[in-house]
Order: sequence, then structure tokens, then C-alpha cells
Amino acid sequence: MKRGCKVQKVDRMISGGTILVMDDNDHTIRNGAVAIKGENIIAVGGKEDIENRYISSEIINAEGFLVMPGLINCHTHAPMTYFRGLADDLELMDWLNNYIFPDEARFVNGEFSYLGSLLACAEMIKSGTTTFCDMYIFEDDVAMAAKSAGMRCLIGEALFDFPSPNLKTPQEGLKYTEMLIEKWANDRLVNIVIEPHALYTCSENLLGDLRRLADRYGVPIATHYLETKSEKKTLAAKFCARLYGGRSARNKAKKAVEVISSGHE
Ligand SMILES: [Zn+2]
Repeated sequence: MKRGCKVQKVDRMISGGTILVMDDNDHTIRNGAVAIKGENIIAVGGKEDIENRYISSEIINAEGFLVMPGLINCHTHAPMTYFRGLADDLELMDWLNNYIFPDEARFVNGEFSYLGSLLACAEMIKSGTTTFCDMYIFEDDVAMAAKSAGMRCLIGEALFDFPSPNLKTPQEGLKYTEMLIEKWANDRLVNIVIEPHALYTCSENLLGDLRRLADRYGVPIATHYLETKSEKKTLAAKFCARLYGGRSARNKAKKAVEVISSGHE
């Protein structure tokens, strides 16, 4: 430490290692250090510089490691850690209709979602993920699990035309989602997203209601879209025939679906 230098006490330092700053210029600092006070990073720089300016009783030696911001899991179903290995390598609809939906009806409740999410959070933290976007059922319990694990999250109840173990009707789904939005409005870690499960499990009426709810509260929408080849055909049959009428127009609409979905197979 240099004499005469004003040294600030911090709660934690990560020292040594290569730091990925992730700023506009993608700076990398070799043999760097990070000073942390409370929940905030207050300085990032070369090790010598940071250790001259800050002092801490806790120093994490990161020599030989990469120091980087947390990873973001953009789409997951955290409580489904409990279903891992239940059914694999199946076509999506076979997997959903014959394995997942029946077992969700049998086993899933608020406690299942809470405990399954805690396990998922532990696994995500272990692999460096600090934020996740989740879609499942009993999402209030997922939010509470994420909060107790200290993870940032975007949470949305999966909404369908048919009943889920949590909600009997689409109207209950709208009310539950609105409850989530209001309950977690000012939370530092939990953010609410409106989540129609997919275009093949939601009617146009439900999608319209959710769009209006999203606009009213200024929250984003997340959904599944074109997960499989067969979904293109399902959506073309569901939407395009009614929208565009006769066979020639229907074929054009199918073609349009193929064009917009190219690259998603
Ligand atoms: Zn998914």
C-alpha cells in the first residue's frame, strides 16, 4: 500500500485473475481486481491499483481464474429439475401430452415449484448463472425461491386455454398474473413477465387479453415459438386458414409461415 494514499475500506475484494469488464470496448484486465461494498461493485482495475486504493478483510484469490459478470439463462422451467430424466428424446407433443402434463397434474403444487426452483437455483449459481427467465406454474413460489437464493429473475405463470394444476380458467390466469405484477412491482430481484405458454396452447382471445394486460402494466411478454418443425404446420392450420380463407390463400399463408420460421428448425 502506498503511503499518503487515502485508502477506502470495502467488504470484499476479488484479486488476481483475468477480468472481463463487458464494457462498450470489451476491455480485458489481466491480473485485475474488483472491490465490492455491500451489494455494489465500486471499482474494477489492475490488482496493484485496486489494492492501493482499497482494503478489505475478505480477499478472494482469483489467480488463474476468469472473473466475469454472471451468465443469464434466457429461458427455463426451474421447478422441472424434479422431472429430469422422466422422459427424454421424444417428439415435443408426445413428451408434453403423454408424460409431462399428466405428471404435472399428479405432482405439481406450490411446494413442488418452490423446492424444485431452489434446486435449480443452486445448480445455476454453481455454473455461474445469476439471472434466469422462468415459465412454469405456481410462479409466485418460484419467485420466492429465487429471492431466497439471491438470484435475479424474470418470472411468468404459464397460461393456457385449458386448466393447469394452479389455475382453472384463462380468466384465473389473468388475475393471477396481475397479482404477480402488483405483488413484485418494487422488488429488486424479481421481475414479472406475461407468459402465454405457446401459440398452439392459447386462443387468439387469450393472446389479445394478455397483450392488453402487458400494455396496461408495461411488462414484457415471453412465449414459446416454433420449437419444432411440426409447430409450423399446427400454426398454419390454426391461424392461416381462418385468416386467409381459400386454398390458394392458405398455401400462401403457409409459405409465409415457412419464410418467417426459416432458421428456427
Ligand atoms: Zn420452454
